Amino acid sequence: MNKFIQTSLLLTLTAYCSAEVLKNPTTYSSDLYKEVILNGNYDSSIDHPSKFLDFNYGERVASPEQIEDAINAYKKQSNKIKVINYAKSHEGRPLHALIISSPKNIAQIDLIKQNLSLLSDARKINDKEAKKIIDSLPAVAWMAYSIHGNETSGSDAALGLIYHLIASNDSEVVNLLDNMIIIVDPVMNPDGRARFAKSLEQYRGTAPNYDDQSLIHSGDWPYGRTNHYYFDLNRDWVYLTQPETQGRVSLISEWKPQILVDAHEMGAQDTFMTGPAREPINKNMDRDLIKWGNVFAQDQGSEFDRRNWRFYTGEWHEDLYPGYSFYVNFRGTLGILYEQSRMAEDGVRRPEGTIQSYKESVHHQFVSSLSNLNTLSANSKAMYNDYWEARKLNVSKESDWANQTFVILPTKNTSRINTLANKLKSQNIEIYTNKQNIIVKNVLKQTGDIVEEFNIPAGSMIIPNRQPEAPLISAILEFDAEIDEDVLKKEREATLRDGSSIMYDTTAFNFTMMYGLEALTVPEYVKGNLSLWEPSSVEIDVDEKAIMWIVDGTDDLSVTFAARLMEQDVQVRIVDKDISLSGKSLSRGSPVVIAMDNPKNSKLVQLVKSTAEGLNVSVSSLYTGFGPEELPDWGGRHFRLLNKPQIAILSHEGFSSYDVGVSWWSLDHHLGIRHSQLNTSMIGYADLRRYNTLIMPSGYRSLNQDEMSVLKDWVKQGGTLIANNGSTRMLVSDNSITSIKDVSDSFENSHDYNIKLQREFLSKNISIDLDYVNNNKISSGISYPWEETENRIDSDTLKKRDSWQSLFMPSGAFVSGRVDKKHWLSFGTIDTLPLLYSDFPVLMAGSGSKAVIRIGELTKKNNQDVYKTINWSDIPPGNDLNVRMSGLVWPEASQRIANSAYLTRERFGKGQIILFSGEPNFRGAALGTNRLWLNSIIYGSGLGTSVLIKQ
Ligand SMILES: [Zn+2]
Repeated sequence: MNKFIQTSLLLTLTAYCSAEVLKNPTTYSSDLYKEVILNGNYDSSIDHPSKFLDFNYGERVASPEQIEDAINAYKKQSNKIKVINYAKSHEGRPLHALIISSPKNIAQIDLIKQNLSLLSDARKINDKEAKKIIDSLPAVAWMAYSIHGNETSGSDAALGLIYHLIASNDSEVVNLLDNMIIIVDPVMNPDGRARFAKSLEQYRGTAPNYDDQSLIHSGDWPYGRTNHYYFDLNRDWVYLTQPETQGRVSLISEWKPQILVDAHEMGAQDTFMTGPAREPINKNMDRDLIKWGNVFAQDQGSEFDRRNWRFYTGEWHEDLYPGYSFYVNFRGTLGILYEQSRMAEDGVRRPEGTIQSYKESVHHQFVSSLSNLNTLSANSKAMYNDYWEARKLNVSKESDWANQTFVILPTKNTSRINTLANKLKSQNIEIYTNKQNIIVKNVLKQTGDIVEEFNIPAGSMIIPNRQPEAPLISAILEFDAEIDEDVLKKEREATLRDGSSIMYDTTAFNFTMMYGLEALTVPEYVKGNLSLWEPSSVEIDVDEKAIMWIVDGTDDLSVTFAARLMEQDVQVRIVDKDISLSGKSLSRGSPVVIAMDNPKNSKLVQLVKSTAEGLNVSVSSLYTGFGPEELPDWGGRHFRLLNKPQIAILSHEGFSSYDVGVSWWSLDHHLGIRHSQLNTSMIGYADLRRYNTLIMPSGYRSLNQDEMSVLKDWVKQGGTLIANNGSTRMLVSDNSITSIKDVSDSFENSHDYNIKLQREFLSKNISIDLDYVNNNKISSGISYPWEETENRIDSDTLKKRDSWQSLFMPSGAFVSGRVDKKHWLSFGTIDTLPLLYSDFPVLMAGSGSKAVIRIGELTKKNNQDVYKTINWSDIPPGNDLNVRMSGLVWPEASQRIANSAYLTRERFGKGQIILFSGEPNFRGAALGTNRLWLNSIIYGSGLGTSVLIKQ
C-alpha cells in the first residue's frame, strides 16, 4: 500500500470513528503558535523533518525511532554529514553523533582530530606549532539534547537543526559549515524518551491539554527522565556507569570540542535559563571559560530579546558536583546549559492566562542552538588560544595542581581497582605504578590527618598531577572540594531561615571514597621510577585433582563467583576467617567450592572453571583442608555453607525510582543472576515463599497492617529482609518488625544504648592484669564505664538538641564508617569505610541487634584521660572521633550521627532484618558500600538465617 492511500484510508477511518465514538476538539494546539521554525532556503533533495513524522515538525514529540529514520535518510541524502553510532542503550536503541560540516572538512576528520589531540597536550608541541594548528583548525561544537528523556523539546529542536544545517542554501549556514565541525548528539537518552513518548501516546485524548498537572504532562512512575535502569545520565559523566555515557565520553575524549551544549527542560511554569553557573563553582574549573560563558549568554539573550522571549541566567544553576555535563569545563570545553520550561506536548497554561505552546519551546531551543554556533564561529580562534594557554599551564610547574600526586594503595580487590583504572583512562588520565617503595612527606590521608613521613608501598596506583587533564583529575580525586566561606554563609542562612539549601547535588564525590579504596594525596610531584599502570594478571588454576577451589574474598568478583555457581545449583561455602591452606593466604569471605559437597555434580570442575573464566577472576586449587596451627581447617565451623538466594525487589509507586533502578542494575551488572521485581501493591497476596531474600529499596510508602503481617510471617519463616533509607525509616517507625530505633525515639533509653556501645569499645581494647584477675579476694575497685563519664545529658536536653541538630543534616557528604571486621556483612571492606551520607534515619542499635557499621572513626588522642560525652554516647579516654571525611557536614550533624549505626543486622524468628540507614548503591558508583549490600543479598540467607534442611 503506498503512503498516500494509507493516509487517506486512515483519514476516512478517523472521520468515521470520531463521528461514532469521539468528538473533535473545539480548538487545536497547532493554532497557538504560527511562527515557522525552519524558514531558510532549503535544498529540495533533502527531506523536510515533517516527512518522518505523523504530525507537523515541532508540534509534537518525535519518537526516538522517528528521529532515527530521519538520520538514516540524511546520511544518504547529504555529503555534509557523517554518522557515528557511539553506543547502544540497554534497550538496544542506537545513540548517534552526527558530524556535520562542509564536505571538505568531513574528508579531513582524521587530520582535524589529530591536530586537536596535539593541541591538547602541551608536552608535544611548542607555541609556534600550536599557532599553526590553531590557524588551520575549524571550530568544534558538540550540541547535545534531552539527556532527560521527558525533557523533550531539545531533541525536536535537534532534528530541525540537523536539517537546517545540511539543507540550507543560505550563505550564512554554508559559511558556518566551512569553518566549523558541528557534532549533534540529538537523543542522549533514547530509552527514557521512548518511555515518555509511549506515555504521551497512552494519555492523549482528543482535546489538547494545557494543564501541567495532568498525566499527559507528568507521565507516571518511573517517569521518562532516566534511562532503562532509572539512572540520571546527567550525574554519570565521571562515574561512567551507563553505556550511553561511556560511549559519549570516549567520543568527547577524541574530539575535545570547544563548547558542549546540553539542552534540558525545567518546571512548566518557568521561562528559559542559560548562562554560566553561580557559586558554588568547583575550584578546579577554568575561570576563562566562565568569561566565555557570558559572551555566549549575551548573544543568546539578544536573540531572545529580539523575539520578545523571556529568559534568565544563572540563578539556581550551581556547579560544585563534577558529574554533570558541565564536567567538560574541567577539560577545557565550555559547557552551556539550556533549561526550557517543560511543555510536554500541547502546551501549558500559565498564571497570567497565556498558553505557551510546545512548538514555541522547540523554537527556543532551535534559536539558542544557532545563536551559540554563531558565537562560537566568531570567537573560535580566541577560544583556542585560551585553551592552548590553559593546556600549557596544566603540564607546567606553575599550576595549582603541579605539586599534587594522588596515590591509591595496593589492594587485593583487583576487580575494583581495575574498574577505577578504566574510568580514569576513558578521560585520558595517565596512571602509573611503582615497583619500589617511595618515601614522601606531609601526606594527606582520607581522614584529613597529615602523616609527616610515608612510605608508598610498591604496586600502588600513582597519578602525578602535572598532566593535560590536571583540573579534572583534581576535581574527581581530591578528598575535599573547597567551598567558599561566603557560600557556607548563604547555605547556613538558607537552612536556618526555612530549611532550604543552595546546594543542588552532593557536596562530596571523590572516586576513592566512593570506591572504598584507601588513598593519599602527596603534596609534591612524584616522578621517577614509575611505570605505566597495568591491570594485575589473573590466574585461573582449576585442577580437577584438587579437593576444593577458592577465590579470594577481598575481590568483589568473589561474590559474583559464589552467586553464579549457586544459581547453577553448586553448593558453595564461605570461609569466615583469614586462612592459609596449601601455602595460599586468603582473606575472610573467600567463597570455596568443595568437591565433597557436590558428589552428584559431574560437571563441577568445568563449571568452576568456566565461571571464573567468564568473570576473569583468579581462582586457586587447594589440595589439603588442613590450616596450620589455629587457622581454620575445612571441616570446622569456619567453612560455612551458603544458601542459594532467591531474590525479589519491591518496586513501583511509593519507592524511589533511583534506588529501585540502581538496585536492579547492581544485580544485573555485578551478578547477572535471576531475580524478580514485585509490584508492592501485590505484597498482601503474593506467594512470598518463592523468595528467601527480599529487597526494599528506599521508599516513602508505608505498608498497611495486613501487608506488614505478611512480611513478618515471611521473615519469621527464614526470610532475609534488606531495606534502605526511606524503607528502613518506615520499618523502624512501624516498630513491630525491628528493635532498631530512630535516634529521636531513643532518649528514654539512651543509657542502654551507650552501655552497648561501651561494650563494643572495651572489647576491642582488652588488657589483662593477671594478679588482679586471679586474686581470690573480692574486689571493691571495679570500674564501670558510666561511673567515669562526666556530664550525662538528660533526655529532655537530648530531645531539644536533636530537633535542632536535625536541621543541619548533610545532603551527600562522606562520613567515616567504623566497620566490625568480624561480621560477615563486612567481607571485602576496608577498616574505615567512607559512607555517603544524607538526611538518612539515624539508627540506634540496642541489645538483640548488631551494628555492623557505626559512624565515626576512633582515633588516638594524647593527654585526654576522661570520657567525652557526645549527646547519648561516650568516647573512651585517650580517643577522639572523626566523623566528617568530605563535603559539607555541619558540626551539629556530626554530633547527631556520631556512633549511630549505618548498617544493622538482627534476627527475627528464623529469619533476619538487615537495615541500611543510607542508599548503599548510590548512582552505581558507591562501590565501597555496594559491597556490603551484595554481601547481604548473596550471603545473607546462608549466614544469617536458620539452616533449612530439605526432607
Ligand atoms: Zn534535565
